[in-house]
Amino acid sequence: MTIKEKIQLLREELNQHNYNYYVLDNATISDYDFDIKLKELEKLEEENPAFFDPNSPTKRVGGGITKNFDTIVHKNRMYSLDNSYSKEDLLDWEKRIQKNLGTEAIEYTCELKYDGASINLTYENGEFVRAVTRGDGFQGDEVTSNIRTIRSIPLSVKKDFVSNFEMRGEIILPLEGFQKMNNERIANGEEAYRNPRNTASGSLKLQDSSEVAKRPLDCLLYQVVTDERKYASHFEILTASREVGFKIPTTIKLAKSIDEVLDFVKEWDAKRHDLPYETDGVVVKVNSLQHQEELGYTSKSPRWAIAYKFKAEQVATLLNEITYQVGRTGAITPVANLTPVHLAGTVVKRASLHNADQIEKLDIRINDTVLVEKGGEIIPKIVAVDVSRRAKDSQPTIYATHCPECNTELVRNEGDAKHYCPNEFGCFPQITGKIQHYIGRKAMNIDGLGSETVELLHKEGLIENYADLYELKVEQITPLERMAEKSAQNMIEGIEKSKQIPFEKVLFALGIRFVGETVAKKLAKHFKSIDNLMNADLETLVAVDEIGDRIAQSIIDFSKNEHNIILIHKLKTYGVQLEVSKESLENLTNKLANTIFVVSGVFYQMSRNELKKAIEDNGGKVSSSISKKTNYIVAGDNMGPSKLTKAESLNIPIITEQDFIDMIR
Ligand code: AMP
Ligand code: ZN
Repeated sequence: MTIKEKIQLLREELNQHNYNYYVLDNATISDYDFDIKLKELEKLEEENPAFFDPNSPTKRVGGGITKNFDTIVHKNRMYSLDNSYSKEDLLDWEKRIQKNLGTEAIEYTCELKYDGASINLTYENGEFVRAVTRGDGFQGDEVTSNIRTIRSIPLSVKKDFVSNFEMRGEIILPLEGFQKMNNERIANGEEAYRNPRNTASGSLKLQDSSEVAKRPLDCLLYQVVTDERKYASHFEILTASREVGFKIPTTIKLAKSIDEVLDFVKEWDAKRHDLPYETDGVVVKVNSLQHQEELGYTSKSPRWAIAYKFKAEQVATLLNEITYQVGRTGAITPVANLTPVHLAGTVVKRASLHNADQIEKLDIRINDTVLVEKGGEIIPKIVAVDVSRRAKDSQPTIYATHCPECNTELVRNEGDAKHYCPNEFGCFPQITGKIQHYIGRKAMNIDGLGSETVELLHKEGLIENYADLYELKVEQITPLERMAEKSAQNMIEGIEKSKQIPFEKVLFALGIRFVGETVAKKLAKHFKSIDNLMNADLETLVAVDEIGDRIAQSIIDFSKNEHNIILIHKLKTYGVQLEVSKESLENLTNKLANTIFVVSGVFYQMSRNELKKAIEDNGGKVSSSISKKTNYIVAGDNMGPSKLTKAESLNIPIITEQDFIDMIR
């Protein structure tokens, strides 16, 4: 046997074992023997670099670092699903499609709705080439090297399946693995992850793929997109996919009628908590691919599929204590501390109570028996109090009057739902929270500095505010616990680099109450510099499109605060961008003033977001839906059919990407 054949054979063998173990859940080799073979292959590959293959089973351990994930336009859009909540909803849906197809006899595939992060895997000539997250459905982030570490995903597909296709599925963290990860974190003194779905989706964006490889992620697949017409039905193509290596859950079922669909729903509503992973519903799909094609899509979702959402589960438990959390803006959130109780696969100990009004509305009291519900959201909520089980001597809850962190008296402004701690510059979570917000990914994006380090630096008296970051020196940081020279240097470099961050992001980073990302963008564009913004009066501010009294007042409060005036002055001297840069000013025109655009489809010369930005940079407006007020529709490939009909019926000109580029030239 030649070396090449030997390598080939080992790869095939190891792939088969991975498939047996991770997809079929039926190992035919011991871990030990598997490792021996893997090591053997590793050695051969190392000695014979000519036979390198990115899809070799040795590449499952990761190792590549991705700093920034590339944005990739999906070849075929990733749609959402319409939801249904009752038997009636499903029957209505069936009526609609029967009418649409002109036939009563429709078969369905029933699947569970796996609760994770959607992923699009591209295979060319049977080889895995790329994995892209769903993103906004039109474009997502390329996470190929991270996905390659998930062992249940085949890196090459055997035999006579279709050769060029996209495989869609859900990256999930099975409950057992999630629990194990959390146990380890707790043992290390780290905070436990909140839920499997967010942890799975966060894992895809880890920069170090060898970290991803350590997580027990799995991938359940549910859709093949291809132009090759080898199979006639969805069920058939899924079954074939399973045979060639994909993990298609065996829970899927072919239903000959909507009655069988209803049986499936009923069965899994009862059994769903026995599953090794989370599900929040069922997805029903018209089985015939011909039918699917005829039904097509609405602007948001396929007409040939519908999700059925299980009802949120509720459970009763005891309220032991109400504590109060202080956010970076000083906003107070009351938190219910509960007797731990199992709910929808996780243990619930806390629930948000939102604000004083909510507490009053529920008339919730210490020692009450409360009903907790967990829907799709991360934090469970309290939906009701069982008054019949309340102790006779129970007293109404008196809301906190003072800040639990700094003991300052709380204030509540008229019209605000929340109480605030006004001690903005002397209250621990507000000081650190503002700095943590400042360094965040969507703000100054400072690498090498995390939330815990911010707390440490503040406790050590090195930083009181975000401006102080720019005074930090390596030799001040290295003496701190767990701070190596290298990490200190990275931190300082990251801080230095943040001086290049454009003004609109800096404005968001400042953490002015009610000034989120979008508002910051608007303000930056309108006022062009921090000085103009801070000198603006209420009238000038509310005159800006979409800026209301509440935001305007908050900006004024920020601007006249002496602390802030000093901070801004300091940031300026350090060289942080506090005005719109010359180049971006040069790109701004007013050519498209008073012109409203709707953008639809997939574009080539620029991304959707770039196109939208170009419209706004030239003074135009982007709207998401077509109305009489729309002036133009910029249409790319695969423009939604319903948008097309609407545009035609309202006689709105449809222009191409090139037309648009000519327009602003
Ligand atoms: P939604 O985000 O609620 O519109 O639901 C659509 C999402 O459900 C898709 O993007 C998929 O990620 C996810 N999903 C989970 N299980 C399935 C399934 N069996 N078929 C189709 N989509 C699914
Ligand atoms: Zn306070």
